[in-house]
Amino acid sequence: MSGTSPNDTSDMGLVVVGAAGRMGQALIRAIHTIPGARVAGAVERSGSAYLGKDAGELAGIGIINVPIGDDPLPAFAKADGVLDFTAPAATVEFAGYAAQARIVHVIGTTGCSDDDNARIAAAARHATIVKSGNMSLGVNLLAVLVEQAARALDADDFDIEILEMHHRHKVDAPSGTALLLGEAAAAGRGIQLAGNDVRSRDGHTGVRKAGSIGFAALRGGSVVGDHSVILAGTGERITLAHHAEDRAIFARGAVKAALWARGKKPGLYSMRDVLGLG
Ligand code: NAD
Repeated sequence: MSGTSPNDTSDMGLVVVGAAGRMGQALIRAIHTIPGARVAGAVERSGSAYLGKDAGELAGIGIINVPIGDDPLPAFAKADGVLDFTAPAATVEFAGYAAQARIVHVIGTTGCSDDDNARIAAAARHATIVKSGNMSLGVNLLAVLVEQAARALDADDFDIEILEMHHRHKVDAPSGTALLLGEAAAAGRGIQLAGNDVRSRDGHTGVRKAGSIGFAALRGGSVVGDHSVILAGTGERITLAHHAEDRAIFARGAVKAALWARGKKPGLYSMRDVLGLG
């Protein structure tokens, strides 16, 4: 096992799981350009058409001599960390393996259930995990602003609605980012998001419940990720928004999170911790 130590100055070896995916390829490109990190392995699901292909060549940066394999265990054993933007069931499994190998696990996967999150939290007793529904600096800053705005504007006067749009291939809704922004709004209001969220509206819904936080999801085309938090009062409306134009912002954030987490004690950290946004 390569392992992590606070005093280690060698390049951090990172395994990309889901290496053939949209984010997986962006992660391979990001690691390639960021000093202090190197691609230590690339893993895909069994049966993937990309097994055996070179991860760098697939990501468009040329051959890096890292073939994509389907066995995470030997890859994790040689690495210092794993970057994981896959699917909830896979992420829960990888969290267990990363904990066994005592390596950093950066999780960008969204759509995790409460049970998935409980298993990830259990793995964080042994592994240093950074998990966030959005790894970009911009969205995490936006979350801080949303929390401030929600705190400043009274729930009786301002309704909070969160609108998101993503590409046609996205499989979960609302997006992890929309939920992250909803949590920030709820924190500002001093309430739990669970129980105060309205995930969809259809038919005769009745009037809006004061203090609730509404979500709306649009899907289409190639949109990387658009989010707006609307604070709607009587006679005025504030909109705080973020538009992601390139997956590279999430990939760079994930690599930054891995480098930050190296040598940190086991626990479940967020991107706000990484970025020092409190
Ligand atoms: P994608 O479908 O293009 O890629 C997912 C990849 O994971 C696929 O190649 C798939 O084969 C692979 N995979 C699935 N199960 C696996 C397993 N058991 N072992 C190895 N590989 C496995 O999807 P995407 O657009 O790259 O998004 C992936 C995830 O990342 C989604 O949950 C998405 O919402 C999330 N995401 C998060 C952020 C963030 O900043 N947190 C940003 C973008 C996307």
